[in-house]
Amino acid sequence: MKIVAWPHDSIASRFVWTVVLAVVVALALVRLFSVFGGVWANEPLDRSLLPARARDLVRVIEAAPPQVRPTLVAAAATEGLMLDWYDATSPVATMLWRDSGLDNKESLRRRLLGDLRRTAVIFEPRGALRPPPPLALDQPRQGSAYFMSVQLRDGSWLVFSVPNRTWGLPQSQRWTVWLTFATLSIATVCAIATRRLVRPIREFAAAVRRFGVNPQTPAVLESGPQEFRDVTRAFNTMQAQIQKFVAHRTMMLAAISHDLRTPLTRIRLRGELIDDEMQQAKLFKDVDEMQTMIDGALAFFRGDADEEATTTFDLAGVLQTIANDYADQGIEVGYVGPAHADYCGQPFGLKRVFTNLIDNAVKYATPPEIQLCCREKALTVAVRDQGPGIPADALDRVFAPFFRVDRSRNRATGGVGLGLTAAQAIVSGHGGNITLCNRPAGGLEALVTLPRVA
Ligand code: ADP
Repeated sequence: MKIVAWPHDSIASRFVWTVVLAVVVALALVRLFSVFGGVWANEPLDRSLLPARARDLVRVIEAAPPQVRPTLVAAAATEGLMLDWYDATSPVATMLWRDSGLDNKESLRRRLLGDLRRTAVIFEPRGALRPPPPLALDQPRQGSAYFMSVQLRDGSWLVFSVPNRTWGLPQSQRWTVWLTFATLSIATVCAIATRRLVRPIREFAAAVRRFGVNPQTPAVLESGPQEFRDVTRAFNTMQAQIQKFVAHRTMMLAAISHDLRTPLTRIRLRGELIDDEMQQAKLFKDVDEMQTMIDGALAFFRGDADEEATTTFDLAGVLQTIANDYADQGIEVGYVGPAHADYCGQPFGLKRVFTNLIDNAVKYATPPEIQLCCREKALTVAVRDQGPGIPADALDRVFAPFFRVDRSRNRATGGVGLGLTAAQAIVSGHGGNITLCNRPAGGLEALVTLPRVA
């Protein structure tokens, strides 16, 4: 199954979109702050430096003769407070005189200039009055600048403007706010984008772990950017090939084992014709042994082919049931561990494993003790007996098919040497392992580790 992804969904494009989105969000936050930040973003005129300086400059310029006023104005202007003087006959003066009739900020004027009789026009950022075009053109940032025009007694106009005062906060604090917005937006956008990017990787890792536990798990869902989808597709193809390969091999081995039965039957029939009774008895024994091995192999392959569903079950319950079954036969198998332990796996397959280990202990040693330990990442089950153990050089080989430590001893017990092979196959199918070791005090310890898979 395939999730429809937006076109060109690659890691690179996601990276670009993340950066673009982070920048856009940062800019939007700065913009929202300047619009809704109130006095923090836009300091009112009466709180700026303008009124105090304007009062002084109006007095000085007014006292000076008109011909020196341009020089004085040029000398008094600073970067933070621009200053212009317009003669009473200039077009700007006419426009300002017209606007002064519309300006109704009398209380503000009184506060700013301390003189209500004086004619003044105040242009505030986003105020109702717009500065006349020649003034606005003079100002590089007229959109957010403050203008105050004061008429002198001879009818000329003095225009003050604070071009860069867009915020009520000093420059350093303004930078801090911008940096905070940028950091917050980048961190938030990146965290969301990374979570979305990492989710398919996590799901893929979990699917790979599931495949390790159960080779029959269904194909992994393709999701995420193009690169991840390519990897998932490659994995699904490999998984399907492995499943096909294993199924084919199991089928082939089962067929060979099955077909061996016919020539064996013929050998037995021909054996009836042998006159030497001793030789005949030996031949029949070999034929019986082969028959048992073939039956064991067929049972093993049949068990392998059975696709038992994985489900959550009580492993402690399974172990206690096995112990109780032996108790019914008068064989005392001890159990140490919790009363309940949930595990997700194949209950019948694992019951076969522990039955085989306990059965081996009963057959080749003494009735064992089972110990179950539950850890966060895995469950371990130890089966300990007090028998002869297994020679050190055979500890690994006992897992090989048809391997038996003491053939003459085993013949009496009837085993074909496939029990541990099957047990190891089932435990490996759960992503776990079985280790055997001889205990220092004597006897064998079989330790089964079963990882918990999410
Ligand atoms: P079998 O069908 O012979 O029981 P297994 O694969 O279960 O095959 O065991 C392989 C061999 O390992 C056994 O034949 C036996 O010789 C040896 N073995 C297994 N368990 C024990 C044990 N608890 N103590 C001693 N020997 C054991």
